[in-house]
This record gives sequence, structure tokens and C-alpha cells, in this order.
Amino acid sequence: MWVVPEAAIAGLITPEAAFAAVEATFAAMARGEAYNFPVVREALGEGRQYGFKSGLDRAGGTLGVKAGGYFPGNAAKGMINHQSTVFLFDPDTGLPTAMVGGGLLTALRTAAASAISIDRLARRDAKVLGMVGAGHQAAFQLRAAARVRQFEKVIGWNYHPEMLGKLAEVVTELGLPFEAVPLERMIEADVIVTITSSPAASLMNDHVRAGTHLACMGTDTKGKQEVEAVLLARSRVFTDEVAQSVSIGEAQHAVAAGLIGEGDITPIGAVIAGLAEGRRSAEEITLFDGTGVGLQDLAVASAVVKLAVARGVAVSVTI
Ligand code: NAD
Repeated sequence: MWVVPEAAIAGLITPEAAFAAVEATFAAMARGEAYNFPVVREALGEGRQYGFKSGLDRAGGTLGVKAGGYFPGNAAKGMINHQSTVFLFDPDTGLPTAMVGGGLLTALRTAAASAISIDRLARRDAKVLGMVGAGHQAAFQLRAAARVRQFEKVIGWNYHPEMLGKLAEVVTELGLPFEAVPLERMIEADVIVTITSSPAASLMNDHVRAGTHLACMGTDTKGKQEVEAVLLARSRVFTDEVAQSVSIGEAQHAVAAGLIGEGDITPIGAVIAGLAEGRRSAEEITLFDGTGVGLQDLAVASAVVKLAVARGVAVSVTI
């Protein structure tokens, strides 16, 4: 089997390649050629979380699992709190084919999903990008969004305002003006990306104007929430996977409150595969509930392995 170390990944896969790999797997999911297995997530105590996201993509020939979680004691030891590794297997024989570092890949595949939603659902003339969140994932999200629309300005809000400086640096690098704003001013945004670990809604219905596209990317666990539930009832809701959206995604709250049902949520893969309509008018609000599926991890890991083998960077081991 091949081993691709975390340190080698930055030089191998581009955000564009991650976008293409994730888009293909979303479409395969919609065509019934790929599916995710139920997510396993366990609390280990002392704030540690560990779990598995896995699936099979028949079209892409990919079977595997991402194992990892959140280990809050790591930072004090000089390590990143989020840790993950992707394992790939031959779908015909079950033999392990690769072990790949999952840190950067998680950020790239998550940013790719958000960008795919913006590409497919945001208005073509979107000019103002609103960022809610300024943590580790936010810079990846921002760069990916800027690749799919010609934004003229970025506005940002964060629960911890001191973190916005780093985000502003990325915006400057992209050659755009940045303004830190109160949440109420998100009403000026054409596209809003939310990427926080918030346990309660920050962005309210009143903070969003008609015609906006929202990519809600932070809620990936039961109990997290980034936007007011009634906003989902006002929007056309899209997701990576409906089962995850209603259980661990942003839609969990609107569904629990009876504001929307499972049938109101469209898989983004169906839009990509031409099986469902995307945006229908300049006025409607579109909202992508990005929960993060195992097949995204397998898609980017598989692309990385091919690149690593071709460039002689993958390490061969016999087990
Ligand atoms: P991070 O720890 O680097 O940043 C956390 C962010 O949340 C910061 O902006 C912080 O200010 C904000 N925040 C913290 N407490 C808050 C509160 N009470 N109210 C509002 N905001 C608050 O985390 P990260 O790596 O950037 O990840 C952000 C979120 O995205 C997490 O919830 C993570 O689990 C999730 N995530 C989702 C996917 C996916 O596929 N959907 C993938 C990776 C990460």
C-alpha cells in the first residue's frame, strides 16, 4: 500500500483539483453510484471526540474511511487539535491501498464543497462576500469562494473579533478590500459563508437579504448552529447529503422545529448531475448546508495518491 504523509500534500493537490474531485463525487452520489456509510462519532471524555466517516464510490472505484477527531489537549503540546487520517481500500478485494494524511485534505475538500455551492447557486453578479467566522477553515473557504465569483469586497464578522486580522490579510492578498462589520451589515452581502463552531445561531433572518446565497459550513455535529432556523424556511435548502443535513447539519434545527421537512432539501449533486434545478430567480435565497461527507475525503485522498505515485512522493509499504 502507499503512504502519503501530511507534509507532502500541500505540494501535490491544488484547490482546483479538489473542487473537481468533490464535484464528481457529489454527482455520483446523486446518480446512486456512490453512498456514505453512517457516521460514527464518539465522545472520549475531556472534550476529545473521535469518529469515522466512510463510503463507497462505485463510479470512482473508491472505498475507504477517514478516522479522526478533535483532541483539545494537543495545542498545549504544539500539535493541531483536529487530527485525521484517510485509509483507502480496493473495493473488489478489500486490500488496503493507501494511508493519507487528512488535515489539509479536510480543509480543501470542505472549501471545495462550499465553492461548488457558490458556483452552482449564487447569482452570477454577486459582488460582496460576507464571512462569518475567522478560524482555521475560514481562509480556505475565502480563497475557494474567490475562485468562483468576481467579488469586489469582503465583509467579515467573528465572535472573537481579534481573529479577523488574519482573515483580512488573506483578503488583502486576494487584492480585495476588507471591512469588519456587525452581523446586521451581512445584509449587504450577496454570498455569505458561515464557518464557526457556534452552539447557537449568530446570523439571523433579518441579516440576510433576498437573492443571497449562503454556504453554512460550520455545523457538522448535533447541537451546533450558525443561522436562525427560520432562515431555512425562507430559503431553498441544498446539502451534500440529506441524511446528515437533518441529523448533524444546519437543517437539524429547522427540521426539529417543524419549519421544513427532509423533502424540502435538495442534494447539490442532483443540481450538478442535471437532475434538479439550481437557483430559479435573482430574488430567491439559496442555502447550502455543508455537513462534510466521507466520500469527499475519499475523493481528494484518491486524487492525492495518484499524484503522489506519479511524482514519486508516495512511500510503498507492505502490510
Ligand atoms: P476553529 O476552532 O479554527 O475556529 C472556530 C471558529 O468558530 C472561530 O471563528 C471562532 O471565533 C468561532 N466561534 C467559537 N465559538 C463561537 C461561538 N460561541 N459563537 C460564534 N462563533 C464561535 O475551527 P475551524 O477548524 O475553523 O472549524 C470551524 C467549524 O467548521 C467547526 O465547527 C468545525 O467542526 C467545522 N467543520 C466543518 C466541516 C464540514 O465539512 N462541514 C469540515 C471541517 C470543519
